[in-house]
Amino acid sequence: MFTRSFVRKLATASAAKSVAKSTDIMIVGGGPAGLTLATGIQESPLLSQFKVTLVDGNDIVGKVGSFYDNPPDHFTNRVVSVTPQSMKFLTEKLGVPLMKDRIQPYDGLYVNDGVTDAHLEVEREEMLHMIEILNIQSSLLHKLSNTSMNGENKVNIIDNCKVESITSSVEGDPTSWPLVKLANGETYKTRLLVGADGFNSPVRKFSGLYSRGWQYNTWGLVATLKLDPQCLPIYKLRGWQRFLPTGPLAHLPLPGDNASLVWSTGGNEMSSLLMEMEPKLFVKMINAGYILSPTDLQYYMDAFRDGTMTTENLIEDIDVRINQVYNELKDESLIDEKFPPLVVDVVPGTRARFPLKFSHADSYITDRVALVGDAAHTTHPLAGQGLNMGQHDVEQLLKALERATLRGQDIGAMLSLEPFWANSYAFNNVRLGMADKLHKLYHTDFAPVVALRSLGLSFTNNFSPVKNLIADIMTGK
Ligand SMILES: Cc1cc2nc3c(=O)[nH]c(=O)nc-3n(C[C@H](O)[C@H](O)[C@H](O)COP(=O)(O)OP(=O)(O)OC[C@H]3O[C@@H](n4cnc5c(N)ncnc54)[C@H](O)[C@@H]3O)c2cc1C
Repeated sequence: MFTRSFVRKLATASAAKSVAKSTDIMIVGGGPAGLTLATGIQESPLLSQFKVTLVDGNDIVGKVGSFYDNPPDHFTNRVVSVTPQSMKFLTEKLGVPLMKDRIQPYDGLYVNDGVTDAHLEVEREEMLHMIEILNIQSSLLHKLSNTSMNGENKVNIIDNCKVESITSSVEGDPTSWPLVKLANGETYKTRLLVGADGFNSPVRKFSGLYSRGWQYNTWGLVATLKLDPQCLPIYKLRGWQRFLPTGPLAHLPLPGDNASLVWSTGGNEMSSLLMEMEPKLFVKMINAGYILSPTDLQYYMDAFRDGTMTTENLIEDIDVRINQVYNELKDESLIDEKFPPLVVDVVPGTRARFPLKFSHADSYITDRVALVGDAAHTTHPLAGQGLNMGQHDVEQLLKALERATLRGQDIGAMLSLEPFWANSYAFNNVRLGMADKLHKLYHTDFAPVVALRSLGLSFTNNFSPVKNLIADIMTGK
């Protein structure tokens, strides 16, 4: 096994000898975590003295930034469920002017076991907010660009430019300042290097921090949905999640007649088939996924794959079966209580799929390096925690840097970074473990496990302390 110093030594051998520019903090990654950190440093009276450089391989300022001034008419497909803690941090602590008309608060979650019909209803006012990732990123960029010192932006953003290599400035000395070589030919020497560079984090690789995890062999399919206006207003503005044997199907509210879909579809085949379907059949499959039995759903998926039914026949059949289920309910009002509003269309171009995985770094810090967001951890989206954990990381890192600055410590030293790691690892570990166990628990149709989990869900639904605990974890308390 490579030791950290060995990895660093290898990297040092090819260090660029061109003149390096200096910066106090270099953030690699302009995703939600990296941009929040840059804004937090800029807004902190203690930290704003530091020279900050943020680098990203994508067109952050142009493409992402323009979302703020010219948002599209429709809702984009990368939408996250944000906790009140994260919202408070962004809007109150950092003063980020989020685009409010594109955010949907909601008051509860209706979780249902597709196999047994056991359910759990969690209710809490403004429990979570649905918000597009582009809203978060572009609002952060707007805030960053509107705060300047002597006519210049405080944070130096270099985008459309990948990090090519990272080496130590002094061979064999892990406490020396890292040298970051960029694709534009520039090299930066930094007191503190922050990896906010996502799952494949080049910073994590350089640091030698070990990350363990696995692929779920499951794809998360996302889309922006249009709902039947006749089903609105619904019983309550809530999120819906149904656990099917292939994975959970989540339907989360957006303003007006819009909703966001996250469907964990099992292996490659099911997500590919759903991507291939004509929109009019795709939306029927989503309705079938919520309302019909998993056996019915599988039957329709097989019929589509094998071509034994035409699209028209499938649509007709699904409609008939859904009406049968509705008619079997004793009371019509139960339709709104048990099922989400019917989906009638999908916004063109918003259907996409992502491989789902779990990863957690053994530590988030080493000399002169800190990891935040997906660079430190990635999780199954079923508990809606990924971005929220990244926000919590950033909040804790800012606190640690402020404390170190007050005490006159070097912000890149392990001593300064340790409180950040101590306060974020345990917080994240609980959430990562919860999402992973839930995925495994619901990814089986083994009868004894199914019976036990249904008992557990029904028990939880009737036992307020456990229900409150779940709501606390989900809302970031
Ligand atoms: C289907 C799905 C649904 C989800 N739903 C939720 C939810 O409801 N709630 C929630 O909290 N989370 C959710 N998440 C998770 C959330 O989207 C992520 O946790 C979050 O976006 C990660 O942000 P980040 O800033 O850490 O990383 P990223 O957004 O991955 O940003 C990393 C950045 O680093 C840059 N970069 C990488 N390598 C380099 C390099 N070599 N040089 C320069 N730049 C580089 C990239 O260009 C990128 O901009 C979901 C995820 C999925 C897949």
